[in-house]
Amino acid sequence: MPELPEVEVTRRGLLPHLPGNRITRISWSNKRLRTPIPRKLLGREIAGERVQTVDRRAKYLLVRMMSGSVLVLHLGMTGRLGLFPGDAPRARHDHLRLLLENGMEVRFNDSRRFGAILVWPAEEAAGLEEQFNKSKGIEPFAEQFTEDTLQELAARRHQPIKTFLMDSRRVAGIGNIYANEIMFAAGIFPETPVDCITRPQWQAIVVHCREILARAIEAGGSTISDFIGSSGKPGYFQLQLKVYGRAGEPCTRCATPIEKRKTGGRATFFCPRCQQPQ
Ligand SMILES: [Zn+2]
Repeated sequence: MPELPEVEVTRRGLLPHLPGNRITRISWSNKRLRTPIPRKLLGREIAGERVQTVDRRAKYLLVRMMSGSVLVLHLGMTGRLGLFPGDAPRARHDHLRLLLENGMEVRFNDSRRFGAILVWPAEEAAGLEEQFNKSKGIEPFAEQFTEDTLQELAARRHQPIKTFLMDSRRVAGIGNIYANEIMFAAGIFPETPVDCITRPQWQAIVVHCREILARAIEAGGSTISDFIGSSGKPGYFQLQLKVYGRAGEPCTRCATPIEKRKTGGRATFFCPRCQQPQ
């Protein structure tokens, strides 16, 4: 499932190609994604418009048009975007195709259809974006992502720290894989209640959260050349995972076997020696 780094890598893959280009034609499948494809709005607000830039907020890509309208894409579980020559053979599960005036085509492929395509019309975009931002947690690379903010967000809560980090209303873009890795890097037992996290631990979370996400983006960025014309994955991370998926294997720090359990319904991997309950 794409997490923040994969979405950011996709954004960086699109950035050299979309801004300045006009979308001359839009085609869609007749399948329903997580929400129905907004055909009327795509035709009215996006077709024929010129792209200004591509931003990211949480795990959403915001393709901004010069007109002010915004095409909002969420990759869901299996969604991916690729750039292809317009006449390249289409793939099964291509649900949206944006033909650019330079002959290239952006394709949104999603086999499980948990992704979403939304359009914010120009005249309502500012209000809709404000509302959207309110529903999303803090960005790990934002300036306000500090131990103070996190401690404040966690006040009077008792949920496990790992579950808290994965709550998209509190922190944006961190899924199960990175949450496990961040907890290991910070040396924190993943089921520690958030209101018991100490100040140095919050500091460690901030540092490792950014460090791990940045490394994953970099790893994805190194495979970005695969992006164009690729029918495969657009630079999925090749980060070396230290705990995720490694139950029973030796900890990279102390060689104790990594343990696995369920936290809030999600698989948690941790080293029982390096990440002790406090
Ligand atoms: Zn260990």
